[in-house]
Amino acid sequence: MSYRVTLIPGDGIGPEVSLAAKRCIEATGVKFTWDEVIAGEAALKKYNDVLPKEVLDSIRKNKIALKGPIITPIGKGFRSVNVAIRHALDLYACVRPAKSYEGVNSRYKDIDLVIVRENSEDLYAGIEFEQGKPETKNLIGIIEDYSKKIIRPDSGISIKPISKSGSERIVRAAFEYALNNNRKKVTCVHKANIMKFTDGLFLNTAREVAKDYEGKILFEDTIVDNMCMQLVQKPHNFDVLVLPNLYGDIISDLCAGLIGGLGIAPGANIGDNMAVFEAVHGSAPKYAGLNKANPVAMILSGVLMLQYLGEKDAALKLEAAVKAVIKENKSVTYDLKPKRDDPTSVGTKEMADAIIAKL
Ligand code: NAD
Repeated sequence: MSYRVTLIPGDGIGPEVSLAAKRCIEATGVKFTWDEVIAGEAALKKYNDVLPKEVLDSIRKNKIALKGPIITPIGKGFRSVNVAIRHALDLYACVRPAKSYEGVNSRYKDIDLVIVRENSEDLYAGIEFEQGKPETKNLIGIIEDYSKKIIRPDSGISIKPISKSGSERIVRAAFEYALNNNRKKVTCVHKANIMKFTDGLFLNTAREVAKDYEGKILFEDTIVDNMCMQLVQKPHNFDVLVLPNLYGDIISDLCAGLIGGLGIAPGANIGDNMAVFEAVHGSAPKYAGLNKANPVAMILSGVLMLQYLGEKDAALKLEAAVKAVIKENKSVTYDLKPKRDDPTSVGTKEMADAIIAKL
């Protein structure tokens, strides 16, 4: 049997790290048929559309995708294609393990955290009103009427919707993950002291859901700013973190920093019956086409895909091969060497070759 998987190479370093991941996943012996489609800059050039319909159609049909990073211009141009894919397919759970690998130059050892980030709501809902537009002015008037608070007339507005149903399903996903992966504790991260009706709702819903897991999984909650400090001071105190969208995004990068960088941080966007696997990192445009980027985050995203497919042995085998290559610290990319300008560092392709050789 062969799994049919949508492959989106992505922008910048995306095509290089996606190819490396595809080769390593295939080398496990599990059979795949890749349905390759383009999104992002390449699709903009070819179809004048950053997210052509065939991309979503392909994922809906195959129910599974491996995706390279796609650029999002800051403050102008198109909205995030990555966020659009997650929204369109309702991939509401973003699962991002942050795990230490021996041989990686990092401030910490033995980190083993999992971030479960809500993917569909919050300030990422894409509901924004531009400064100076008539509708923004109208909205400001309405909000002032209801809230009896003043908003400066030259403001832009971003809306932060957080629902009870959206909170319930992500917190449940975090507890189910904890239960199925032998984890002990779920920590809900929020700012409910300030945003009582959004983060407050998230926290209260989390407390309700936690009751269903009493005696099986521990539950606690922490305010996001305090969480940042605690993660830096004592990251080993945490296990599974569940967060609204924006905090989840920021804490994901912080946790990638704890384990030695974005080059080794994988991720999965999971809905009720489909999933898209992608690294935490972006398209790192300065390294595009240089055969320099670390392919491990994409390869480990492939490990998560193999786990999701129930291919446990292949997943274990591929992760073990990655671990061994990182530990040897010989055939690794520049970012995994003790000094970044180490002349013995290898390229994206060569690191993938070394991983394949260990399988
Ligand atoms: P980035 O993750 O692309 O890069 C930040 C830095 O991290 C890079 O300069 C590089 O030093 C390092 N880095 C990242 N990936 C690496 C790898 N595989 N190997 C070695 N070093 C690596 O973040 P950015 O520069 O803020 O974003 C670039 C673009 O990517 C932006 O347009 C952003 O919107 C987009 N982005 C996309 C996704 C996604 O597709 N899911 C995620 C984050 C950012």
